[in-house]
Amino acid sequence: MTKGIILLSGGLDSLVALGYSKDKYGICLALTFDYGQKSAHKEIESSAEISSYYGIEHRVIKLDWLREITKTALVSDNAVPTENLGTKESAQAVWVPNRNGLFLNIAAAFADSYGLDYIIFGANKDEGATFPDNTEEFRNQISKVFETSTLKKPKVIAPLINYGKDDIVKIAMDNEIPLNMVRSCYNSGEKHCGVCESCKHLKNALIANHGEKYISILFEK
Ligand SMILES: [Zn+2]
Repeated sequence: MTKGIILLSGGLDSLVALGYSKDKYGICLALTFDYGQKSAHKEIESSAEISSYYGIEHRVIKLDWLREITKTALVSDNAVPTENLGTKESAQAVWVPNRNGLFLNIAAAFADSYGLDYIIFGANKDEGATFPDNTEEFRNQISKVFETSTLKKPKVIAPLINYGKDDIVKIAMDNEIPLNMVRSCYNSGEKHCGVCESCKHLKNALIANHGEKYISILFEK
């Protein structure tokens, strides 16, 4: 039987990537990264709950230095954008340098050491249009690198790469993935703020799928 590790932020994409492909890839370990992002506390809480729900091991990796070398609004005192969303500027404001490259390399170290065959992450079509580290090209290239940088040669899998947010919410509903546990907001509030880019994408996708009950659970009134 094969085994896999997943990058789990607790957001929509990583939650659904886990629920959708846990059995196929034998996912047994989740990594959540704390680089001082505003929502770190909530992401860790949500990821722990999701990992427990799926009965997999959960580890939190601290990367304090990453906060120091980035000016992204995800960690700094700058507010995360709530206007002109979907533009290059709004994407740059939340860009963390080489984030997925770094996270996947750390996961590859675990895979190499623990003998895991697959590394799963939640790259998807919508974010691939804005962020280069969410594309099929990136997935393919980094998977190739692990053929020479590790002994175990884990394959990098992005099960949602051809899907946008609306499709991803539909997959969640069709597969009874617990959307009530999701944490997609860039901000630190108890509930989803509803105005950051990530919240807007989630909200729109829930509306498109008649998921209003989740909106009342997840979002500030
Ligand atoms: Zn938000």
